[in-house]
Amino acid sequence: MAAADGFAVHALSIDYGQRHRFELEAARRVAAALGIGRHITVRIDLAAIGGSALTAEIPVPKARSREDMAEGIPITYVPARNTVFLSLALGYAEVLGAADIFLGVNAVDYSGYPDCRPEFIDAFERLAQLATKAGVEGSLKFKIHTPLITMTKSQIIRRGTELGVDYSLTHSCYDPASDGRSCGRCDACLIRRQGFLDAGLTDPVEYVAG
Ligand SMILES: [Zn+2]
Repeated sequence: MAAADGFAVHALSIDYGQRHRFELEAARRVAAALGIGRHITVRIDLAAIGGSALTAEIPVPKARSREDMAEGIPITYVPARNTVFLSLALGYAEVLGAADIFLGVNAVDYSGYPDCRPEFIDAFERLAQLATKAGVEGSLKFKIHTPLITMTKSQIIRRGTELGVDYSLTHSCYDPASDGRSCGRCDACLIRRQGFLDAGLTDPVEYVAG
């Protein structure tokens, strides 16, 4: 969406000690398919902190109902993850001289995550201005763009399809098989599959469970 809006895109992935490598590989495939000139991966170790099913030896919840998913903050929440991610993106942006930071958070389907909400994004945008040389000296006015934040999953999938996204290159599953196939039963898989169903489109990704 940033590229379609005419921005020169510099992509950032974060290898934070998550359960699997497949999403990082998917990010590389997608960046290459979009013709993004520079895609960097920054390595940090949130597994040293743990506290999440994505960064510690805690099972990923499976086959949860929509009601269960809507209740409370799930164990797949990674403590302060988007604060850490945005801080790294902010540093990268300042070095590039880029004022516009895009983040794919969504507050609709994953309503439980506190760092996916507009209040958090607004607060971080204020912080960005106060926390940086470029902000204090006035050479950059940082803006955090979250184009997906109020869209439903099916709206996101439709918009991506309109823009020519090849979803066979993407990955959503929290807990894939060792060959990279998606589990089909974690929250991320269930919400993705429902999104494709609601959009009336076929999900090209391979699932272990039907
Ligand atoms: Zn899954």
